[in-house]
Amino acid sequence: MRALRLQAWQQEPELVDVPEPTPGPGQVVVKVGASGACHSDLHLMHDFTEGAVPWNPPFTLGHENAGTVHAVGEGVSSVAEGDRVVLYGPWGCGVCSMCTRGFETYCENPAGAPIPGGGGGLGLDGGMADYLLVPHERFCLPLPDGVDMTAGAALTDAGLTPYHAVRRSWSKMTPDATVAVIGVGGLGHMAVQIVKATTAARVVALDVKQEALDLAREHGADEVLVSDEHAAEALRDLTGGRGVDVALDFVGATPTLETARKSTRSTGEATLVGLAGAEVPFSVSSQAYEVSMASTYWGGRHELAELMSLAARGAVTVEHTTYSLDDALQAYHDLADGKVRGRAVIVP
Ligand code: NAD
Ligand code: ZN
Ligand code: ZN
Repeated sequence: MRALRLQAWQQEPELVDVPEPTPGPGQVVVKVGASGACHSDLHLMHDFTEGAVPWNPPFTLGHENAGTVHAVGEGVSSVAEGDRVVLYGPWGCGVCSMCTRGFETYCENPAGAPIPGGGGGLGLDGGMADYLLVPHERFCLPLPDGVDMTAGAALTDAGLTPYHAVRRSWSKMTPDATVAVIGVGGLGHMAVQIVKATTAARVVALDVKQEALDLAREHGADEVLVSDEHAAEALRDLTGGRGVDVALDFVGATPTLETARKSTRSTGEATLVGLAGAEVPFSVSSQAYEVSMASTYWGGRHELAELMSLAARGAVTVEHTTYSLDDALQAYHDLADGKVRGRAVIVP
């Protein structure tokens, strides 16, 4: 079968021929229906070096996946051949206290996981291939009838990551609150919709591209702003001087995290999601009093189930462009060039 593999750090992946996987006991093989191209893959190809994460290439890319169950191993009982599924991507041990709560992202027993701190497309083979080997049936969640494969795939990361970041700050997103969404790409355009669908807060979206600001408007942003060195001031102006209640940074560069930090009002929350290497000072006076700053990583298995319910009701949709597996490299080039509207999704 075909697979888009990252063969070594600091290089582009290659489309190669590899053997088709077969499921061992408890495992599932999924025929890939769609696999999203995440900006994190660009960081993987270009920024990561040995030692950055507890695993190394070679492996097949693609950590946001949906498909149809193709074969199940001995003892698998919750899914059967032909089932439409989305894949929960962070693969933990399943039994530690974090995994038990659904947060396999924060597994505290990495030695008991299929791979420490990773998953399919992150150390193990991912979904940019014809078939995907899933190490445990619990990673397969039902794909609701009304949601297509491309949207399902994107929801598992471009959807789940902002869903988690929004959900943890729900208590701050009161009807009189303002939420800033910085960076309206794959993750950010979902964040705008998730805040609108799950709270009554006002959303202000920021990006450097006009097309991204238009996309944010189309998906429910109440206000849009150009993301530049004046953005924090502009956010204060939009909120009568008080600042935003929650700022979500889906770029994660120092200037955007500075915007988030400086625009958040006292007792508010500034959340770093993007992986562009931001570093900012933290002291009593570096931001308003009692601002909480957090980084988040992906989301919980229970949260993916909640998000699929939201998608099944049509409350959130994924803007996407599809590419064939043969054109997957082009998808990454377009993503790097900022030419993708919403998410680029590979359909093998
Ligand atoms: P994307 O390329 O689809 O979108 C990025 C958006 O940010 C684009 O619209 C771009 O125009 C905009 N942008 C760039 N510079 C900006 C600036 N200075 N101010 C405002 N907007 C700006 O990327 P994506 O796939 O949505 O991923 C976003 C980031 O989140 C990446 O760094 C990715 O690696 C990271 N990520 C983190 C997690 C996590 O769990 N923490 C999960 C997935 C992705
Ligand atoms: Zn990702
Ligand atoms: Zn665990």
